[in-house]
Amino acid sequence: MPCSAEVALTDDEVRALNGLPGADFEVDAEPLGCDFGVHGPDVQHTVCAQMQYEPGGLVLWWLFWDDEGRRELRIAPGCQKVVVSDACLLVEDHPGTCNQSIGFTREELAAELRRPDAATG
Ligand SMILES: [Zn+2]
Ligand SMILES: [Zn+2]
Repeated sequence: MPCSAEVALTDDEVRALNGLPGADFEVDAEPLGCDFGVHGPDVQHTVCAQMQYEPGGLVLWWLFWDDEGRRELRIAPGCQKVVVSDACLLVEDHPGTCNQSIGFTREELAAELRRPDAATG
């Protein structure tokens, strides 16, 4: 079960993340879902907000937030574990198991929930 928490970047954050040299993709102010599976309140929700290609390597920007409105956008290393043949895409020291996908998009999640075999588990 993915964590259902969502957060949206502010206009300032969108501008900053899109203005980074080597920014990997275009961010917007649409709500982003937490990268983690369901977790306790002692773990901040986390989403990878931008990836930046620098001469020294890939820089990962994460948005951390909690249910009380605290939020922080900052650089942090990604998890170094490798799952099957790909690196885990979650932040370093994340809770739960490693994950190779950034997470479901809204459409993918809806499709997943509609699948009859998913309901019987
Ligand atoms: Zn979460
Ligand atoms: Zn991991």
